[in-house]
Amino acid sequence: MALRFFNTYSRELEEFAPRDSSSRKIDMYTCGPTVYSRAHIGNFRAYIFEDLLQRHLEARGYEVHRVMNLTDVDDKTIRGARTARMPLSQFTEQFKDAFFKDCEALRIKPANEYPSATDQRYIDKMIAMISALIDKGLAYQAEDKSVYYRIKSFPNYGKLAHFNLDELQSTGRVKNDEYDKEHIGDFALWKAWDEEDGDVKWNSPWGPGRPGWHIECSAMATDLLGNEIDIHCGGVDNIFPHHEAEIAQSEGVTGKKFVRYWVHCEHLLVDGQKMAKSLGNFYTLSDVLAKGYTGRETRYALLRVNYRKPLNFTWDGMDEARESLGRIDGWLRRLRETAGDKIDNNKIDMQLGQEFENALDDNLNISGALGFLFETIRDTNRAMDRGELDAAQASAWLNWWKRVNQTLDLEPKTESEIPAEVSKLTDERAQARLAKDFRKSDELRDRIAALGWEVRDSKDGQKLTRRAGG
Ligand code: AMP
Ligand code: ZN
Repeated sequence: MALRFFNTYSRELEEFAPRDSSSRKIDMYTCGPTVYSRAHIGNFRAYIFEDLLQRHLEARGYEVHRVMNLTDVDDKTIRGARTARMPLSQFTEQFKDAFFKDCEALRIKPANEYPSATDQRYIDKMIAMISALIDKGLAYQAEDKSVYYRIKSFPNYGKLAHFNLDELQSTGRVKNDEYDKEHIGDFALWKAWDEEDGDVKWNSPWGPGRPGWHIECSAMATDLLGNEIDIHCGGVDNIFPHHEAEIAQSEGVTGKKFVRYWVHCEHLLVDGQKMAKSLGNFYTLSDVLAKGYTGRETRYALLRVNYRKPLNFTWDGMDEARESLGRIDGWLRRLRETAGDKIDNNKIDMQLGQEFENALDDNLNISGALGFLFETIRDTNRAMDRGELDAAQASAWLNWWKRVNQTLDLEPKTESEIPAEVSKLTDERAQARLAKDFRKSDELRDRIAALGWEVRDSKDGQKLTRRAGG
């Protein structure tokens, strides 16, 4: 089956073909975090979906060049820095660092570039784009000195989110709190400086101010990837107004089709509601790790549902993830035992278990792909029970798993996977044993066990292993 994705623009499943059919290179732009606080695991659902998409494209022989921006200036970052009484760059830096650490724990492949909106190179590009839009009659400076996009002059406005402008007015999608605008849907490209912004400002032909969020992405995307991009991703909440605005700005300036495939992932929910900072119903990765789960388990829990379906986050779901990974780990151990010294790492049979990649070809059908993986585990385990799987076959399945794992990245990586909470309790237990407080030491062993880990004492100190099924 050909590789196909659901394109939000056409609302259809479309066969994927890169812009340049003679090459295997693909450009991909993914909207990154606004660094005013730690990203929550809802954000990471979107980034893990993008990671899966990239890895599957690579499995199919494409070379993916991915850019993920960091929004380090907007209303929220400015407000946060003010409250913390810190310079904006220092304030956002800590959340950039935390973001990269979380990505690593979740095994998200690093993007090729992480541009920051406040980099002068992109500010210059934003100013150049806004000037071009004004020259073309697509933008205007209002009495409040801010510059707005004139959406009525861009005929394709609304094509991505699938609405027409009159609807925008009647449904009140956009709050009319800016009276200087010609149309309530006109959005800010350049926000004139006001006192609330403190020392956050850049000079521009329209006076001091700062860019609007939407123009940041248009500028960074076109600067780094060119005027036409193969794939642009984000969560569904980005469709309107953010991505609609990105199209209006980029195409308004270049006259070229900005993006070929718009691919959006559904939300991570909590009790049926979107996980969001504003609703206060969110968990960060640290919250999840503090409960004794690992980055690997979190990755699995966020990965396992098709991207076009909402995914409800529950602790039971985390336990199921742990159980599923335990099955994979147990299966790999058995295969290795069966293969013994017959493991031939080079003998990769591309025909074996193709159902896995075929499922992903079909709009990244991860539940189909995982379904096939667990069927394979069940069948090969049964064959091993009956002594009907020989060493060469076991070796072939191990090599198949290597292929699968390049896309899923779920194989255990031992030490680094020990959650912080478990390490902390283990350290406390070492202290308790030194103090010969064996009651406390046993109590700590139980607490560690409750987090899914077994601690054994050896002459070299404590040894930690995952409990069966963990
Ligand atoms: P933000 O930092 O709010 O700009 O969001 C960063 C990315 O996370 C965007 O692609 C959002 O669409 C996505 N996102 C935000 N909340 C969720 C959620 N609950 N589930 C999935 N994706 C989300
Ligand atoms: Zn964006």
